[in-house]
Amino acid sequence: MNATPSTKHSVKYIFVTGGVVSSLGKGLAAASIGALLEGHGYRVTLQKLDPYVNVDPGTMSPYQHGEVYVTTDGAETDLDLGHYERFTNTVTTKNHNWTTGKIYLSVIQKERRGDYLGRTVQVIPHVTNEIKDSMHLVASERNIDIVLIEVGGTVGDIESQPYLEAIRQLRQDLGRENTLYIHLTLVPFIGTAGELKTKPTQHSVRDLRSIGIQPDILLCRTDRVLPADIREKIALFCDVPEEAVITAKDVSSIYEVPLVLADEGLDAAVLRGLSLPPATPCDMSSWVQLVDRIKNPTGEVVIHVVGKYVGYEDSYKSLNEALYHAGFAHQISVSINWVEAEALESQDSEELLTGADGILVPGGFGDRGSRGMMRAAQVARETGIPYFGICYGFQWAAVEFARNVCGLESADSTECNENTPHNVIYKLRDLLGVDELGGTMRLGSYPCELKDGTKTYNAYGEKEIAERHRHRYEFNREYESILTENGLVISGRSPDGKFVEAIELPEHPWFVAVQFHPEFQSKPRNPHPLFHQFVEAAYDHKKRVESPSKTTA
Ligand code: GLN
Repeated sequence: MNATPSTKHSVKYIFVTGGVVSSLGKGLAAASIGALLEGHGYRVTLQKLDPYVNVDPGTMSPYQHGEVYVTTDGAETDLDLGHYERFTNTVTTKNHNWTTGKIYLSVIQKERRGDYLGRTVQVIPHVTNEIKDSMHLVASERNIDIVLIEVGGTVGDIESQPYLEAIRQLRQDLGRENTLYIHLTLVPFIGTAGELKTKPTQHSVRDLRSIGIQPDILLCRTDRVLPADIREKIALFCDVPEEAVITAKDVSSIYEVPLVLADEGLDAAVLRGLSLPPATPCDMSSWVQLVDRIKNPTGEVVIHVVGKYVGYEDSYKSLNEALYHAGFAHQISVSINWVEAEALESQDSEELLTGADGILVPGGFGDRGSRGMMRAAQVARETGIPYFGICYGFQWAAVEFARNVCGLESADSTECNENTPHNVIYKLRDLLGVDELGGTMRLGSYPCELKDGTKTYNAYGEKEIAERHRHRYEFNREYESILTENGLVISGRSPDGKFVEAIELPEHPWFVAVQFHPEFQSKPRNPHPLFHQFVEAAYDHKKRVESPSKTTA
C-alpha cells in the first residue's frame, strides 16, 4: 500500500517558483504535487506567498484579482488556496496565505511595540525572518510531513525578492535534504521556426541562480511532450539532472495534471530530491476514475450563471469548479453559460436565459446588476427552471419573493436602497455603525441547522452543517412570517436562531438559496451536496423539457 512516512521526522519544504511569464499554473502545479505526495501516503499542506502590498485580496476588485477564497477561520485569501483544498486534504487557514502587506504590517506592529530593541529594522533580516516564520507556522501544524510553498509572481519581479531571499536562506537553515526548489517555466513552440525554444527557461534559471537558488527540478510548461534533445539541452544549460526536467503539458482538464505529472516521473524526482524513502506505488486510483468520468460524459446540462463579473472567469473560480464536480459525479458535462446580470435588466431580455437547464445567481456586491439577478430569480421561480442562489443570489431571491409573491412592491436590500420601506435584506446587525470596508464582514465557517424534510436537509443528509460566509447584509427576520405564510420555507438557520441561512420553495422542482458559499467546500472527488442536487435537478428539468410525456416525476 502507501509508503509509511518516517515516524520522527523534520518537516520537508518544497518551494515552487515561476519564471518567464505569469499564469503558467503554478498553483495547480503545487496542488498537483500535493495530490501526488498524498497518493504516496504523505501528509501535506500548502502555503501561498503573494508579493503585492494589499494585506489581503478582500478589498481588491474581482477583475483585478479573481475570486477571494474564504478559509474556515474567515481569512480572505488567494484563489490558489481553493486549488490546494480541492486537490489535497489540507484545510487552509489565515496562516496559509501571506502577502507583502501582511508581512510588513506584522513587522511594523512589532517595531512599534519595541520588539526589535532599538535596532534598525531592515528587509534582511527582519522582513525575511518574518517570511520564514510564516512558513514555519504552517509547517508546525500537527502531523505535516511536507509543506509546499508557492511564491507568487515571477522570478525577476522587484516585489518577490524578499521571498526568494527567504527561501534561499532556508536551505542553509534546514539542510539540503529537507528543501527542494521546483521552478515552473515556459518552453514555447514557435510556429514559424517549427521549434521548441529553451532560451526563456535558460534566462529564468539564470535569474534564479543569480540570487543564489539552484533549482532542483524544472517543470516545463509546453503544448507538447519535450523530446529528449530538448530536455538534454535544458539539463545542460541549467545544471539540472535530465530526469528532473519534467514536461508539464497542457491538458484538457485540470484534474488530469497530477496524473500527467506522475507519468513524467515528477513524484519520483520529488521524493528523491527530499531523500524520502523509496516510493511504494503511488495510489492515484481515485484520480484515474475521476478523469475517466470527466472524459466520458453520458449527457450534458447547461447552467446559466447570472453574475456581475462574468467577463473574467477567475472571479468565480470555486463556483465553476463546484458545478463541474457535480457533473463529474453524475458523469455528465456541465456547460456554463455566463449572463451579465446587468443585461437582464432591460426589456425583453429573458431570452438571455433561453436554453437554461438551471439558473445560478452567485455572490456579488453593489447595485450594478442586482436587478438583473432578481429578474433571474423571478424567471426561474415562475417557469420551474431549477434555481440555485448563493449569497447575493439568496438575498435577491428573498427580495424577489417579497415583491412579486407577497405584494411588497418596494421590497429591497439596503445595500442598494437605504430608504426602502421594506428592508427584507439589511446591514448585518453586528456591523451597524462600522464604516471601514476591509475585514468588516461575517466571514468564515459558521454552523447552520437544517429543517427536516426540506430539499436542503435531504441534500446534506444531516441536520447540523458548517459552511463559509462572506457578507455584510442579512435576511431581516421581521419579514419571516409574511414570506413563509406565502409559501417560502426557511430550511436553514444559525443554531442561535439569529440568522436565516437557507430558503427554498417546496412547490418548485428545485429552488434553493443559501446565504453561505458552498462552492468553497466542493472537491472533485467529493462534490458539494447542494451542487450535486442542483445539477441533478437541472438534468431532470432538461429531460422533462425534451420529452414531457416520459418524465412526470
Ligand atoms: N453583497 C452581499 C452582502 O454583502 C452579498 C455578498 C456576497 O454575495 N458574497 O451581504
